[in-house]
Amino acid sequence: MELRVASEVGRFEDEGWRVRKDGSRFWANVVITAIRNKEGRLVGFGKITRDLTERRIAEQRYRMLVEGVKDYAIYSLDKDGTVTSWNAGAQRIKGYTADEIVGKHFSNFYTAEDAEAGMPARVLDTARKEGHFEGEGWRVRKDGSRFWSSVVVTPIHDDEGNVTGFSKVTRDITDRKKLMDDLQQHAHELEVQMAERERTNAELEAFSYSVSHDLRAPLRAIEGFASALEEDYGPQFDETAKDYLNQIRSASIRMSRLVQDLLAYGRLSRIELVMRQVDIQATLESVARESNVGASALIFEGDMYRKVIAHEPTLIQVFANLISNAFKFQKRGTKAIVVVRTEKAEEGLVRISVIDNGIGIAPQHREKIFKVFERLHGMDEFPGTGIGLAIVKRGVERMGGRVGVDSVPGHGSTFWVELPAAPEGQAS
Ligand code: ADP
Repeated sequence: MELRVASEVGRFEDEGWRVRKDGSRFWANVVITAIRNKEGRLVGFGKITRDLTERRIAEQRYRMLVEGVKDYAIYSLDKDGTVTSWNAGAQRIKGYTADEIVGKHFSNFYTAEDAEAGMPARVLDTARKEGHFEGEGWRVRKDGSRFWSSVVVTPIHDDEGNVTGFSKVTRDITDRKKLMDDLQQHAHELEVQMAERERTNAELEAFSYSVSHDLRAPLRAIEGFASALEEDYGPQFDETAKDYLNQIRSASIRMSRLVQDLLAYGRLSRIELVMRQVDIQATLESVARESNVGASALIFEGDMYRKVIAHEPTLIQVFANLISNAFKFQKRGTKAIVVVRTEKAEEGLVRISVIDNGIGIAPQHREKIFKVFERLHGMDEFPGTGIGLAIVKRGVERMGGRVGVDSVPGHGSTFWVELPAAPEGQAS
């Protein structure tokens, strides 16, 4: 048959098993050419045989590998998009057996919308032009169910560079897609919640600000009438009446302090802080002078000539709170020793520490004391409003700094703030 074909058309080519002298087989590529004399009469045949056993084994191994892959659908298309091969992964992912799908067009895998919109042709076009197509999208299984796929399409060329078909690798990444969608959904919900919380916070702050404001008038009335009562009727009061009057006054003083602190705290988030160079030593001295502490009671340490970039009124508030706490939270009968140390910190910051020899703070309380109304002691032991450190924290953070506390309970606390250092050698 081979010789007949070669004599009829001049050439015959084939691949197949051939047998050696010793009976072993090899995979041969065979080309038979007809040889004719001048008159055109057939005189014989030329035959070239190549042993392609090695290549054949490699190809078969490769095919078996591809066919056995279960996690990826690996299949090939001819140049028009008709399926020409099908592996186990393709069957698992798409639901068709090789018999059912080989010979059919690959647009079967697309949703009706995508197929109508010309997606399949576009995919092959892109692969042809760019040498590669990569994408994600919904695909349809044999049973009509959908899955989210990740697809890579690569063109296959013949020796002359013409596209003869395509190889396609598809993965089912529905789980990953679902995870991503869920994540996005969560992120969105979180954003909505955050926005809501921010709004509520702002409303709450505005509310407490206006309430504090409104409380001031009745408070002044209470204080005014308590004074009037004492002036006009004081001499007639017995001890009990005087005691009641004192209670009214100290309660109203406490309340006006609370209102003042709340207003200060609210104002701190509302006002714009104009930052400039501030001299630490001068600020501390004026704080000590204005409070009943006295400048001589503070021990200054370190490089007090450093300057920071801060909003001066806020910085004064911060130090006033820290220094009054340092003197307040002391064991009865102990002489307060309060040191203020200034030093260079990392990242262009200056650290100012207020160090006391007071009662100290247990580790588990060190974070919450910076929140509004968080106090660790009764009014009788240590009076206060519980707003001071909240003002410190918000103030420092609004000035671009940070704040913290170290403490040895029973031996003292160190409250530190870090603020941006002013450029050195520059006048304020
Ligand atoms: P207040 O001083 O009005 O109670 P703060 O917000 O200033 O409110 O302080 C909150 C709490 O932190 C205080 O009640 C106290 O328990 C604790 N605290 C603050 N400063 C010190 C300090 N220097 N030593 C020990 N405890 C402190």
